[in-house]
Amino acid sequence: MSDPATSDPLADLPLDQLVGCHECDLLMHKPVLKHNEKAQCPRCGYELYAHRHNVVERSMALVLAALLLYVPANFLPIMQLHLLGQTSDDTVWSGVLGLYGSGMREIAAVVFLCSMAIPLLKLLCQLVVLLSIRLDVGRSYGLLLYRIYHHMRDWGMLEVYFMGVLVAIVKLVDLAELSLGLGLVCFVSLLLVQVWLEVVMSPHQIWVALSGENLHAGD
Ligand SMILES: [Zn+2]
Repeated sequence: MSDPATSDPLADLPLDQLVGCHECDLLMHKPVLKHNEKAQCPRCGYELYAHRHNVVERSMALVLAALLLYVPANFLPIMQLHLLGQTSDDTVWSGVLGLYGSGMREIAAVVFLCSMAIPLLKLLCQLVVLLSIRLDVGRSYGLLLYRIYHHMRDWGMLEVYFMGVLVAIVKLVDLAELSLGLGLVCFVSLLLVQVWLEVVMSPHQIWVALSGENLHAGD
């Protein structure tokens, strides 16, 4: 009976030359990529990692754009509601305060965390991580922050909040006179910039740069 470990040609390779697929667990030889190439799993087609050009600079520009959009997205009116002669401006922050004021403190806390606090902390983590790579200082702290960032990723739920806003607009449009505010434009822009940032800031390149391996993350 042959031992599967010795018959496997991958078993003799050092770990840093192997890569496992996140989706289907296929273990394979790690391909060396050139700029703007990406590696896909041959079995399920999942994108294993990509090698993007100027990762740090492009990501930094997007993080700064997102931070600039964060303030108006949360504090400018998402919509204006005109009902029975009264006009109210609704912002993300006033929504949190409204929930808190009407006794739903736990829901107010969840909305505050998922729509305001965690998205901001995520952006700040990304900024510090990118600065630590760019300036070549405190990479161990950068590594720690990037781990924290990955734990927080699932808790920033701007998309869910946006869906809530859309549902509210559809429900209210027949009941009251609605006008959409500048805050909504900034909120949608913030969402789009964050999606773009997810695409540009290739985790593989950031992990390798943070762990001090020889990678041209700034290429
Ligand atoms: Zn796969």
